[in-house]
Amino acid sequence: MRTIDTLLCCRWVIPVRPRGQILKEHAIAIDGGRIVGVLPVAQAQREFSARETVTLPQHVVTPGLVNAHTHAAMSLLRGVGDDMPLSRWLGERIWPLEAALACEQFVYDGTRLAALEMLRGGQTTCSDMYFFPEAAARALREVGMRAVVGIVAIEFPTAYATDADDYLRKGLATRDALRDDPLVSFTLAPHAPYTVADATLARIAVLAEELDLPVHIHVHETAQEIEDSVRQYGLRPLARLDRLGLVTERLLAVHAVHLEEAEVALLAARGATAVHCPSSNLKLASGIARVAAFSAHRVNLALGTDGAASNNRLDLLEEMRLAALLAKGASGDASALPASAVLEAATLGGARALGLAQRIGSIEVGKEADLVAFDLGAVETQPCFDPLSHLVYACGREQVSDVWVGGRRVVRTRQAIDLSGAPLAGAILAPVAAWQNRIGQLLGACDHGHRAQPAAAPVSSTDSRSGAGHLR
Ligand SMILES: [Zn+2]
Repeated sequence: MRTIDTLLCCRWVIPVRPRGQILKEHAIAIDGGRIVGVLPVAQAQREFSARETVTLPQHVVTPGLVNAHTHAAMSLLRGVGDDMPLSRWLGERIWPLEAALACEQFVYDGTRLAALEMLRGGQTTCSDMYFFPEAAARALREVGMRAVVGIVAIEFPTAYATDADDYLRKGLATRDALRDDPLVSFTLAPHAPYTVADATLARIAVLAEELDLPVHIHVHETAQEIEDSVRQYGLRPLARLDRLGLVTERLLAVHAVHLEEAEVALLAARGATAVHCPSSNLKLASGIARVAAFSAHRVNLALGTDGAASNNRLDLLEEMRLAALLAKGASGDASALPASAVLEAATLGGARALGLAQRIGSIEVGKEADLVAFDLGAVETQPCFDPLSHLVYACGREQVSDVWVGGRRVVRTRQAIDLSGAPLAGAILAPVAAWQNRIGQLLGACDHGHRAQPAAAPVSSTDSRSGAGHLR
């Protein structure tokens, strides 16, 4: 009998690979942070002696959800600007606030809040794009998440960096500092084609090859972005990225709302990923991505929440349900994006995009034990004929009971805990109240006529030197 760390005895396990498989009364054996067995409970109890056994009698266990696109620190800006078109939302709210606020402490406190929310919603990995990425990485790791940190590039100066070279230099230094952390990996994260120049994008294409990193970029989010690009460059943004060597299997095309058939085919042919962020696209009236076309062309699909300033939830379960419903409603085909495909997008699809598919994204022997248990015993999920259906169409975050990242239990019966088992929420929420006061004052100033441009925004932080940059 082999001694292991943990044995999860589950009513159901959905391993994601093979797609659609549902295992009943199965156990997941975990040792050294990795999955060492997926087998019937009775057999597991004969083969393994576990230091800890967790019985999950009315639960379904899936791979941890992978949030392929967010700006975690913006959780502190949740609800600061609703029901506005993109240009006003940016110009009147996000840019002035970021100019005044963005500093290392803002990113650290905001990312901890976001990490707590994401973990409690079953997300074990997030791909982040924001200033001060080392503070974001530290926050995500302390709360217990797997962090995919964006090495940001944008042409505008901010409190974090002065120009594109400075952003890249600082981001690469963060990568050097954290490269031995097994729970941290990196993307190159140029903000968008309309905020990053050709020379910077070309350099990023070279760096991506040299360093073997994914490239995480907003692209074709709005119709306006495409019109502007055609006017300025004579090319649609995706064509421009392609000319610069960026449309490859490394590309995470975030949003990808406005794509022609040939552009969908190009993403598929190159093995690129479309990162679908349906809530953000709807709330900012950007449009609806052609997810049924992505499926038809076999484009790798991942899901993201985007930041809490444009969502306003960091809830990947909600994105899963919305993705399924929109794909059906927009295509007129009720079979578009079935539940199994949605769960795959929210797990293995994200892992593939981030270069982590050998390590996470499915429940398979040898992979790292990033797992979520959903309790389907509640009123809202009874009766249960098909736990996969419930995950996509009936579950909310309240069904997430327990979460493991790299074999460590980071959420226990809905409570995020630290290494000693103590609850994390109190310490994370304490600084949020102070930020709320400060942001409230700035919003008051905004509402009394300090609209104008980012450069004229109220600046009360000594960390802010300038502030045209934004990473929404
Ligand atoms: Zn975004």
